[in-house]
Amino acid sequence: MSKKHNPVRALFELKQFGEFGDVNPSVTDSATYTFMQAKTMTDTFHGESEGCFLYSRHWNPSNKYLADAMAAMEGTEGAWITASGMGAITSALLQLCKSGDHIVSSLTTYGGTFAFMQNWLPRYNISVSFVDITNLDAVRAAIRPNTKVIYTETMTNPLLQISDIPSLSEIAREKGIKLVVDNTFTPLIVAPALLGADVVVYSLTKFVNGKNDCVAGAICAKQEFINELIDVNAGTAMLLGPVLDPFRSASILKNMHTLHIRMQQHSRNAAFLAEKFRDAGIKVRYPGFEDDPGHLTLRRMMHPAFGFGGMIAIDMETAENASRLMESMELADVGYLAVSLGYFKTLFSNSGKSTSSEVPEELQRQMGMSEGLIRFSVGLDFDIENTWKRIYQCLKETQLLPSGSFA
Ligand SMILES: *Cc1c(COP(=O)(O)O)cnc(C)c1O
Repeated sequence: MSKKHNPVRALFELKQFGEFGDVNPSVTDSATYTFMQAKTMTDTFHGESEGCFLYSRHWNPSNKYLADAMAAMEGTEGAWITASGMGAITSALLQLCKSGDHIVSSLTTYGGTFAFMQNWLPRYNISVSFVDITNLDAVRAAIRPNTKVIYTETMTNPLLQISDIPSLSEIAREKGIKLVVDNTFTPLIVAPALLGADVVVYSLTKFVNGKNDCVAGAICAKQEFINELIDVNAGTAMLLGPVLDPFRSASILKNMHTLHIRMQQHSRNAAFLAEKFRDAGIKVRYPGFEDDPGHLTLRRMMHPAFGFGGMIAIDMETAENASRLMESMELADVGYLAVSLGYFKTLFSNSGKSTSSEVPEELQRQMGMSEGLIRFSVGLDFDIENTWKRIYQCLKETQLLPSGSFA
C-alpha cells in the first residue's frame, strides 16, 4: 500500500457542496447547458473550458462529483462514470484496442467480460488469449507483438484467485502495453492504480453502491486517458454513449461515504462463515485463509483495515447438491438465491449455472471450477453466528454435511 495515498482519508476530505450550501451536491436535472458567450461553447466543445458543461452524455456535474470521489478513492488523476460495469469494461477496452490488436486476459473473469472477449471482440478482429493470471510465465508467454492490454480482476470471479498487480504491471511496462484491472470485488481493500495498473474499471452496482437498486460503472485512470475516452471526435465513451443518469450518480455518491464501514463488516462476516464452513469439513475458497494460494499476494497489496473481502466460494461437488442447499438457505432466511454481490443481505448463486454460464463447461472444468460451486457475497448481518446456525441447519436437513463433521 502506498504511504502517500490514503483512500479513506481522500474520501473523507472530499468537499462537494450543493448550489445553496447543501451538504450534498445539487443533482443535475438537465441534458444540455447554456452559455452567455458563444466562444465559451466552442472552447467547451474542444475540452478547453474548465468547469463548463456542454451536454450530459459528455459530462454532467452529478457524474463529475461521483467521478471525483472514485478518483479520490483510487488515487487516479481522473475517472468517468458509466451506466454499468460492462459499459466501463467495454469502453475502456475499445479505447485501447483496434482491429488487429490482441489482449491477454485472465481466464477467470466475470462472465459478461469473458463473453465480450470470447464472442464479441473477434467480430471486430480483436483477439484474446486467456491464461491463468496467477502464472506470470504464462502471462509473459502469451504476449505477442500486437498485444495492447493485459486484463484481469484483482480478485477473480468466481474462483477468488488473486492477481499480483505489481508484477503484472512490471510485465506490462516492459512490453509497453497497458494493464487494465477490474476492482469490483475489492474496493478500499486494494487500490490497483497505486500498484501500477494503468486503468481501473468498476461495476459500481456491487460493493461501491451496495444497495442493489441500480447498475452503474466507472473507469479510473490518468486524466489523459479519460480525456481520450470522452473526446467528441474519437472517444469511445462519448461516441458509444454509455453514460449514467445523474440521479443515480447522486445516490451512489451518498452510499460511497459508508463504504469503509460496510467493507469492514462484509469482511468480518465472510471470515467468520469461511472458517465455519471449513470446520464443518466443506471445501472453501477464501483468500483470507493463510493456506489460500492468493493469500500472501493479497496481503502484500491490501489495506489491512478492510480485511480479505466479502466473498467466499464453497464446493458442494454437484449442481444438484448446490441447488438443494441454496433452496434450503433461501427458505431459512440466510439470504437470497440471487446473482450479484456487495449487497447488505447475503447473496448466493451457483456460478456455473449463472454468472459464469457464458463460460463453456469444458473451460469451467479447465479453470478448476466445480459444477457445485456456490459463490457467497456475505451480507452485513449483525448476528453472523445466528446466520451460521441457520446455514448449519440447512446443511443438516439437506444431508449435505460431510460425515464426521464436528462443527
Ligand atoms: C457485475 C460485474 C461486472 C459487470 O457489471 P454490471 O454493472 O453488471 O454491468 C463486471 N465485473 C465484475 C467483477 C462484476 O462482478
